[in-house]
Amino acid sequence: MNKSDFDLDYQNQSNESKIVASLERISQAFRVLLWQESKEFSLSPIQVQVLIFLLHHSDEKRKVSYLAEEFNMTKATISDTIKTLDQKNLITKEYEAHDTRSYTINLTEKGKDIAGKTSLFTEQIRKPIDKLGTDDKENLLLSLMNIIRHLNQNEVITIQRMCHSCAYHEVSASGQKHFCKLLNQNLHVRDLRIDCPEHKMKV
Ligand code: SF4
Repeated sequence: MNKSDFDLDYQNQSNESKIVASLERISQAFRVLLWQESKEFSLSPIQVQVLIFLLHHSDEKRKVSYLAEEFNMTKATISDTIKTLDQKNLITKEYEAHDTRSYTINLTEKGKDIAGKTSLFTEQIRKPIDKLGTDDKENLLLSLMNIIRHLNQNEVITIQRMCHSCAYHEVSASGQKHFCKLLNQNLHVRDLRIDCPEHKMKV
């Protein structure tokens, strides 16, 4: 590719470029909506994102090193975020008995309340998706999963817990049929997961 997706003469003739430009617009919408929600609670967008992640993920993922990978940030930046959330009484640190440098991050009741409220910031993005037909939703989901998988394989984004990268995932030669060895069941498109609690990275 030697033409920019943002070169309008090129973009207007290329569906691929229009899709890239559309994704960029949607990412702007996420930023704007997250920013609005953050301001309401006097938090930064990353502080809100961390709170929402903590609300929905298990102990072993609620650690500084895991969060740093999850959000593609340094441990120092995440540690600063955690320090601020601690000062605002939104989290507590539960230190390991065998290693006092390592801790699990727990939300306080106030932290859970704010995480629950702010996690609804995607409402306006969700509305047009709700209106799509079943086939359109499934095609959109598969296409987005493919893009995420490519970005992960090319080390643009780090952690992802989708079926496609899971050790329990089996796919037919045609790539059409999916099976989970852990759940011992076929996975239809609606069953494929983008963030699975049982995900085990393929080696
Ligand atoms: S364990 Fe979860 S991520 Fe892995 S294949 Fe099964 S459903 Fe998908």
